[in-house]
Amino acid sequence: MNVLTHFLAGWALSLPPDLERRDRALIVFASVAPDLDAVVLVGDLARGRALDDCVLFATYHHVLGHNILFAALTVFGCVLLARRKALVGGLSLLAIHLHFLCDIVGSRGPDGSQWAIPYLLPFSKAWNPAVGWQWALNAWPNIVFTIALLALALYAAWTRGCSPVGLFSERADRALVSTLRHRFGNPHQRLVTRS
Ligand SMILES: [Zn+2]
Repeated sequence: MNVLTHFLAGWALSLPPDLERRDRALIVFASVAPDLDAVVLVGDLARGRALDDCVLFATYHHVLGHNILFAALTVFGCVLLARRKALVGGLSLLAIHLHFLCDIVGSRGPDGSQWAIPYLLPFSKAWNPAVGWQWALNAWPNIVFTIALLALALYAAWTRGCSPVGLFSERADRALVSTLRHRFGNPHQRLVTRS
């Protein structure tokens, strides 16, 4: 799936516990980190290759960052930097495996090529989970999933006062929350009024 979907999925996973901004950012990072292996595309473009002839990208994307060693290193790094280490470690592990799962079911290429995850690399090439019914990267289930995650992020911003925008700018986060509460009312005042 695309990076935006992975980003929003990581944010959704970071919502349940009462985490600090940094810990949420680490979980979101774990959710998008496997796609850092797409950076090899720069090497293809630097060599003047056309987009349909990107050998490095075809060889290493969905390989270098989509395996158990990369997952373990990412989670280890998140735990080192986290304040609530056990919780962030568990949710980072979940986030990175949700990324793998989303790629397995919804990342078929425009030319019909199918991605498998070389999960056990670099220790073994024995298990490459894939499904025969993998749908395309731009298929409707991916769009629906992304819209649902976006709606959840906006709802959480309205009710809890924090959004994924806050990972980049606290000021922009406050502006978004303020706009939502100006438009839909203050959710906490509503609860008080009802009770
Ligand atoms: Zn991926």
